[in-house]
Amino acid sequence: MPKIFDTHAHYTDSRFDEYPGKAAALIEEMPAAGVGNIINVAVDTQNSLDVIRQARSFENMYAAVGIHPTEAWHEEGGLDGAMSRLRSLLEGKEKNKIVAVGEIGLDYHYENTDKALQQSFFEAQLELAQSLDIPVIIHDRDAHGDCFETVLKYPKVRGVFHSYSGSAEMAKELIRRGWYISFSGVISFKNAPRVREVCSSVPLERLLCETDAPYLAPEPYRGKCNRSDYITYTAQAIGRVFGISCEEILRITEENAKKLFLKT
Ligand SMILES: [Zn+2]
Repeated sequence: MPKIFDTHAHYTDSRFDEYPGKAAALIEEMPAAGVGNIINVAVDTQNSLDVIRQARSFENMYAAVGIHPTEAWHEEGGLDGAMSRLRSLLEGKEKNKIVAVGEIGLDYHYENTDKALQQSFFEAQLELAQSLDIPVIIHDRDAHGDCFETVLKYPKVRGVFHSYSGSAEMAKELIRRGWYISFSGVISFKNAPRVREVCSSVPLERLLCETDAPYLAPEPYRGKCNRSDYITYTAQAIGRVFGISCEEILRITEENAKKLFLKT
């Protein structure tokens, strides 16, 4: 079996408290379940500290630090305060095991959202990633057009659109510009034929796989607390799209993730 590379999980989430021994015990179990590497993703600057602490405690865990679009409003000191905290974490990039800025982006799912605030945080973090030459992890929920336009403003930035929900056309344009496209457990859902169709248009060398644990558990665990080893069900669903084995998908996506995030 190839090693699993889970490119997106949130092991600081309190939902893992339902496991005996909490997140720590679960993470300990992962290598025996075939999981090679995990990127632990932050949602704000406070959470970034916990994400780093956790990543430093486990050999095969890396950190992504950043401010999620729906969390921007509560950052102390607004954009300037948040960016100075983020910059100082990134100064210790190696010691903090940081391999990406994320998750960042736009989320228009909720009606009362402050789009201008989201945009300012998104652009400031893209600019920071560009200046440090570090990949980004993009969260794009119901904001495909604006997300796409915004990343185009930073042509040197590369990274991944996580749990991709945009069109095949947009994926094609992103891929042409060097971006990666990642699929989560959503691809295994019965009511997601469109996601499978879009996936079939992505070249294998630009494909990534993720859990977004504890969220988005694949079938047959939909609605349950997700964990990195469940990624095999997502890889099976992707494999069916391409007519190749789950093992082959795990091998290819691990190789791609290493190239993007670990530069190996
Ligand atoms: Zn996430």
